[in-house]
Amino acid sequence: MNGKTAGTNLDTVRRHNLAAVLGLVHREGPLARSALTQATGLNRSTVGALVGELAELGLVEEREPESSNRVGRPSPVVVPAGRVVVVAVNPEVDAVTVAIVGLDATVRRRVRYPTGHVPTAAEAVAIVSAVIDGLRPALAAALRVVGIGVAVPGLVREEDGVVRLAPHLEWSEEPFAAELAAATGLPVLAANDASLGANAERLFGAGRGAADLVYLNGGASGIGAGVIVGGLPLTGISGYAGELGHTLVNSAGVRCHCGAIGCLETEVSQRALLRVLGMDAADADELAGALAAAVEAGEEAVLAEVDRQLGFLATALRNATNVFDPQLIVLGGFLGALHALDPERLPRLVSEQALAASAERLSIVRAELGSDILMIGAAELAFGPLLAAPAS
Ligand SMILES: [Zn+2]
Repeated sequence: MNGKTAGTNLDTVRRHNLAAVLGLVHREGPLARSALTQATGLNRSTVGALVGELAELGLVEEREPESSNRVGRPSPVVVPAGRVVVVAVNPEVDAVTVAIVGLDATVRRRVRYPTGHVPTAAEAVAIVSAVIDGLRPALAAALRVVGIGVAVPGLVREEDGVVRLAPHLEWSEEPFAAELAAATGLPVLAANDASLGANAERLFGAGRGAADLVYLNGGASGIGAGVIVGGLPLTGISGYAGELGHTLVNSAGVRCHCGAIGCLETEVSQRALLRVLGMDAADADELAGALAAAVEAGEEAVLAEVDRQLGFLATALRNATNVFDPQLIVLGGFLGALHALDPERLPRLVSEQALAASAERLSIVRAELGSDILMIGAAELAFGPLLAAPAS
């Protein structure tokens, strides 16, 4: 064997193992070395050396475990370094939200900057830059700022972060990632918000451990969706896959802003729920509370609208079930609130329509990460290159 080849192979293996250990600690941490040994199938001394290298890189820390009653010296636990951070960004129709998120997947600081109007891409870049300037003291306390991840409510070309179309923001062909990188001096990655939400729920929320998952989120500006297939996000050739909000549920429906007729997001909408509730605006929690109270009180108009929306939602979920054969459908935002009104109902409606074999192992659950979901999803995107290659 040629020595150079052997060295290259060993180095490749070491890099792979470093990423495996950092990934486990990031997703599952804190973890004892013995748990890492078990999870990776590597021997103790190899895991020790990998943890040592990650600690030297400042990416993990080793701590004494909480006191245990077991006899003998407990093995130290490995935790992700919370002082290695990214900046997560979510431009929306009424505000730009910026957060600092640690490698331990906790949101450290979160600033919601209300805009009072739909921000242009240039305004959003200026707002994010200004908020980051305001966060400088907090960022200075960090060991390392890895980059910026952006959750965009629209179609994003992932390779260069160009927002092809964000209909509610009225952005089209905006090189948002490049402009934000130029303004802040940090590397920027951007992707569709619901795709990032799907990944966040899979790693840290209701979808933990699920390899095949469909996530739908209902918000003020429509229905976003993300699909995980075999543990990997379904992206399509450019990152636009999984737009379940624009699949047909009513051929006698109205025209959607996308140009098509009868899309899920025209039939199932927060606006229609607010209208029957007699409300102008509400955040997800207020809407969920008002819906539950109105249903409890038996308000007929609300019951009828809930029925109508659950029927169309069930049609979309039938299609998703037959196409993707998921083990889990996770519903966020007002879709989670609709489902929570009667958690038996939607699974019944879906299993009545879907292929029996596809629906038999399906669970439909409400999202768990709440209002942090997009911050955690955007952070995961920004941490991606570091998690894939910790030593470079
Ligand atoms: Zn549409």
